[in-house]
Amino acid sequence: MTEHSPPAGPGARGEVNEQANEQVNESVYDKVYDVAVIGAGVVGSAIARDLSGHDLSVVLLDARDDVGDGTSKANTAILHTGFDAKPGTLESRLVRRGYELLSAYADDTGIPVERTGALLVAWTPEEQDALPGLREKAVANGYEHCEPVTAEEVYRQVPALGPGALGGLTVPDESIICTWTTTLALATDATARGTTVLLGHRVDAVEGAEAGTEGTAAGESTAGTEAAPGGDTTTLRTSRGSVTARWVVNAAGLGADALDGLFGHRRFTVTPRRGELLVFDKLARPLADRIVLPVPSSLGKGVLISPTIYGNVMLGPTAEDLTDRTDTGTSESGFEFLRTKGTRLMPTLLEEEVTASYAGLRAAIDHGDYLIEPSPEQRYLLVGGIRSTGLTASLAIAEHVRGVLAEAGLKLEPRLDLPEPPRMPNLGEAYLRPYQDAALIAEDSAYGRIVCFCERVTEGEIRDAYRSPLPPAGLDGLRRRTRAMNGRCQGFYCGATVDALMATKGGTCQEAAK
Ligand SMILES: Cc1cc2nc3c(=O)[nH]c(=O)nc-3n(C[C@H](O)[C@H](O)[C@H](O)COP(=O)(O)OP(=O)(O)OC[C@H]3O[C@@H](n4cnc5c(N)ncnc54)[C@H](O)[C@@H]3O)c2cc1C
Repeated sequence: MTEHSPPAGPGARGEVNEQANEQVNESVYDKVYDVAVIGAGVVGSAIARDLSGHDLSVVLLDARDDVGDGTSKANTAILHTGFDAKPGTLESRLVRRGYELLSAYADDTGIPVERTGALLVAWTPEEQDALPGLREKAVANGYEHCEPVTAEEVYRQVPALGPGALGGLTVPDESIICTWTTTLALATDATARGTTVLLGHRVDAVEGAEAGTEGTAAGESTAGTEAAPGGDTTTLRTSRGSVTARWVVNAAGLGADALDGLFGHRRFTVTPRRGELLVFDKLARPLADRIVLPVPSSLGKGVLISPTIYGNVMLGPTAEDLTDRTDTGTSESGFEFLRTKGTRLMPTLLEEEVTASYAGLRAAIDHGDYLIEPSPEQRYLLVGGIRSTGLTASLAIAEHVRGVLAEAGLKLEPRLDLPEPPRMPNLGEAYLRPYQDAALIAEDSAYGRIVCFCERVTEGEIRDAYRSPLPPAGLDGLRRRTRAMNGRCQGFYCGATVDALMATKGGTCQEAAK
């Protein structure tokens, strides 16, 4: 996608998926699906989309009431070239391939991408010594466009950097992308291809129906027992009903090891690695027109400064191993750490106002690579350890999963009657937004009525979100579909109107006022 590719139109095409958030047609529990994918993050959604491009019935389940509501909603949203991955790993191959696939898919669907490029900056002599090795690593990963630059050039490219930079390495193709629209596009596409999306369905136990084995409840120890399911079908006992499928794909992110345990395996443990980020006001954007990367260390990719697709600048993430897999709160210590780092990296950025802070949890595992392993005898596939690069790699992981499942015995017949991919609403600041589109407003005045002034979100976009195939289940879902209440006032001015529009499911402001 070029920086100024045609803007996406408002409202994704497709029929409203009644099942998504509210009533679930009871027949979904009677059916035997060919494949059940557990986890509707970016990875599970990409897998469901890919598989439903074949002559298969697919069901996508998630414990939460929206797609992309786990790790996929809270990351740094960088479309990685994979220049710094460990050469020879599955992750390095899939990140590289994922970059190409997601770039093309963004073009097709209107997922906003900005080709900002990145500058990796060395602040110490040791870091400067590491630059040639990083360039070689990039080449080993198939990326040949990194160039070393002098300190003078570093400051020419990013004048706001603090003093002391010794040199740098350019990564011209590193880009920023909208993580929210990516998951939503993939899940919407999967829905249009016939995938049944069951939200609010937490898988608590599994049962090998025809093998007649007992189900294993979540939390019960399965250590030393035989793998539970193994018949022709597996029944997933969920918080809302049982779902039966011939094959099961576990793409449950932070919950993947617990689910793997339900299948009788004990092969890995997920450690939630928290990453906290600060989002600075849009006035800060001129300070950072590209991604500024640190030299990666054994502790990970480190703290970066990046423009966001919504016109802000972000600083982060931290990397802190936790035990609580639900702890997505931010912390005083994380805030202080980022302030100290940021003051050194770009002091003027720290003088700008902070609009928001948030945290995401990477699914780190005790294994140096993605862990994608089939158990053909159980018709089960684990997709685990998709930690810091899963957004970029999502489509390539899905492609890889297809190959692994085919080898394991799943019959895959490509469909010839696929619908067009959805055209997603544009959330990107670099492209035409509905409030700026005079022709669109002339056609439909709802796009001329701004509801959220900080983010310039219109009544028409909120209405479209509710009429889309996967409507929001609450405020967070609406934010991810429209940017409503995501700006510097955080809903202080528009909160009441947005609430009223939510209550009428996107009815007009006049209806909402009644
Ligand atoms: C701070 C941070 C920065 C990052 N930056 C980047 C980046 O710049 N670029 C990049 O490419 N990647 C980045 N990542 C990584 C990327 O966000 C993840 O790799 C990706 O989101 C993982 O997607 P997923 O679908 O595997 O997991 P998730 O999005 O977590 O989806 C898993 C889903 O499984 C569901 N689930 C779990 N257990 C069950 C159950 N028992 N029953 C039903 N459902 C269940 C959960 O509810 C969840 O929705 C970053 C991650 C973090 C935390």
